[in-house]
Amino acid sequence: MKLYEHQGKELFRRFAVPTPRGVLARTPDQVIAAVKEIGLPVVLKVQIQSGGRGKAGGIRIVASEAEALGAAQDLLGAEIREELVTKLLVEEKVSITKEIYASIAVDRLAGKPLLLLSAQGGVDIEELAEKAPDQIVRFYIEPNTGLRYYQAVESAKLIGLTGKLMTGVAEVLLNLYRLFQTCDAEVAEINPLVITESGEVIASDAKVVINDDALARQKQVIELIDDPEVLTAVLGEARSKGYSYVELDGNVGLIGGGAGLTLMLMDLISMSGGKAANFADIMGGIKRENIKELVDIILDRVEVDRKIGSVVVVCSLTATPVESFVGGIADAIKGRKATVPLIAVIHAVDGAVKSMSLNEALDLLQSVGVQTYDSINEAVAAAVAALKGRN
Ligand code: GDP
Ligand code: MN
Repeated sequence: MKLYEHQGKELFRRFAVPTPRGVLARTPDQVIAAVKEIGLPVVLKVQIQSGGRGKAGGIRIVASEAEALGAAQDLLGAEIREELVTKLLVEEKVSITKEIYASIAVDRLAGKPLLLLSAQGGVDIEELAEKAPDQIVRFYIEPNTGLRYYQAVESAKLIGLTGKLMTGVAEVLLNLYRLFQTCDAEVAEINPLVITESGEVIASDAKVVINDDALARQKQVIELIDDPEVLTAVLGEARSKGYSYVELDGNVGLIGGGAGLTLMLMDLISMSGGKAANFADIMGGIKRENIKELVDIILDRVEVDRKIGSVVVVCSLTATPVESFVGGIADAIKGRKATVPLIAVIHAVDGAVKSMSLNEALDLLQSVGVQTYDSINEAVAAAVAALKGRN
């Protein structure tokens, strides 16, 4: 689960990683109230999941209330990097003399956390790795011993820092590692970690990704997710109810009956020019209310993730009664305004078609607006065709 910057910074504060003072705002009025509280000048930062907001116009430094209001009206409701902006972080503007890159991330090949540090922060790590690989300090952290003070100091020294700045950065690294470990993070990145004119070391940005499989025990992380549009929170919900649901970055939502079929469906979507927005696999014997919940999770996401242009359900039922399966789908759709095509391929045999025939089930789906197909290839083609013409 990827946290928004403001949530990541809340975690930073809990682990003594310094951040600028900031207030979250969802309306222009709230932005103005935040500006009054923080004092000008301020930085308005769109809260979206994608990075590179600076380049995309999502970071605005404003010097007056009028300017703040204009920027707030401009940004709230806009789409930046294909995400709808619903909240802004209003922060005190810090005077930056140096931008450092600092991150700790699980290196799956090494099986250890990898600390990366560079004096050339502010740009993406990918860009940095390409342009100036020798400017990046890489250090594997032994999970048994953790990050030691001398190692953090040594890393800071290697990027050319001395004195108080060196120890200041080292301290941030130690606290960042404590957060990383305590919160079961996969990534904890500060880019940029800035040095201010007065010599303070402050996390100006925050990117924290929590291991989904650890969410059940990460109460303090779940607590941070207070806003309904944070889709990723449903991931925790999905997991805790025992669904296999993994959020991905694509444009076609999907549900497959069985992991193998789901993977095949994802491949077919890719081969047809689309990209899976999630993995979701339902197991035999699933109940009507659980199907409804899973479809709800995906449709909730569709409402906030504008990239998603269609949803495909493919299932071959052998034990789950067809009426509970299509009933669950219909329950989820009812009372919603369909924003993208819903497409289904349902096959059913034996025990699945006792009290309702497959044709009746398909009729029911069609009556709630679902397009049904006999062939998976045709269904996938329709799902991908629905992406065309979207921006
Ligand atoms: P990103 O583009 O999504 O990674 O967003 P960041 O939070 O990293 O901000 C992008 C850039 O905006 C930073 O690298 C800074 O150069 C600039 N920036 C952000 N906050 C401040 C600030 O408080 N003061 C100044 N001077 N620049 C800032
Ligand atoms: Mn950044």
